[in-house]
Amino acid sequence: MEIILAKTSGFCMGVKRAMQIALDTAGKSTQPVYTCGPLIHNPQAVAYLKDNGVDSVADWQNIKEGTIIIRAHGMPNGSIEKMKSHGLGVVDATCPHVVTSQRQIRKYSEEGYFVYIIGDPHHPEILSLQSFATDNHSLIANYAEAEAEMPPAKIMIIAQTTYNAVEFNKIAQLLKSRAQTAIICDSICQATSERQEEIKQLAAEADAVVIVGGKDSANTRRLAEIAQSLCPRTYHVETDEELIDKDFASINRVVISAGASTPDFITQRVINYLKSL
Ligand code: SF4
Repeated sequence: MEIILAKTSGFCMGVKRAMQIALDTAGKSTQPVYTCGPLIHNPQAVAYLKDNGVDSVADWQNIKEGTIIIRAHGMPNGSIEKMKSHGLGVVDATCPHVVTSQRQIRKYSEEGYFVYIIGDPHHPEILSLQSFATDNHSLIANYAEAEAEMPPAKIMIIAQTTYNAVEFNKIAQLLKSRAQTAIICDSICQATSERQEEIKQLAAEADAVVIVGGKDSANTRRLAEIAQSLCPRTYHVETDEELIDKDFASINRVVISAGASTPDFITQRVINYLKSL
């Protein structure tokens, strides 16, 4: 069986950076170090961080002392100031691409544009992005929701950094065609679009695809959706153990890719398992 590992597989720049900042902070700090919710959406990476002194808490307001690491997804506007006035140290590991989106939303909101934010309404990045807009904004999850919109004259359209690029273009063009002035911000992270582009090419010629990464990770789930649409035998797994009951006997070529939050050692275990078959 031929095993092909996608070149774009694994940690993106923003996740690598956030992991490093968190581990460095824990290494230097004499007080506890926390993240609000998991630093990244991968249970194995979260366990690794915990073993190295970075714990995850659901609500920072319950913490009495220590340092909070702001995750790559960012936090709602004003959160850092609130944490500091609560007596906590803060280290900001928001991904620079997310910071750019936050700034764009603030800028166009202040200039009077109605802001359309396209993404998953429950994702922490979206909760952060929304908080940088004035009340003059709307959140759209998919094309069906966009079809129901009657935009005002002057709009700005921006997506969650991990949103599907093709879907975003469709939504943006639809909203633009209904407004007088439309600014479309290109906020989809290249790490995401390159990963999606590569899996499209590889999955089309594969007998099976294995996507490795957290089931809660939006970018990993999207990668699996794209692969599934081109290769019906696509498995989204968090660890190699989930492959044990899968039958690879008739598979000649298997493609492996991993989400932006998947540590390399997890992907390597999947490769080792497939090699052992
Ligand atoms: S996927 Fe892109 S935007 Fe998201 S954390 Fe990684 S580098 Fe940043």
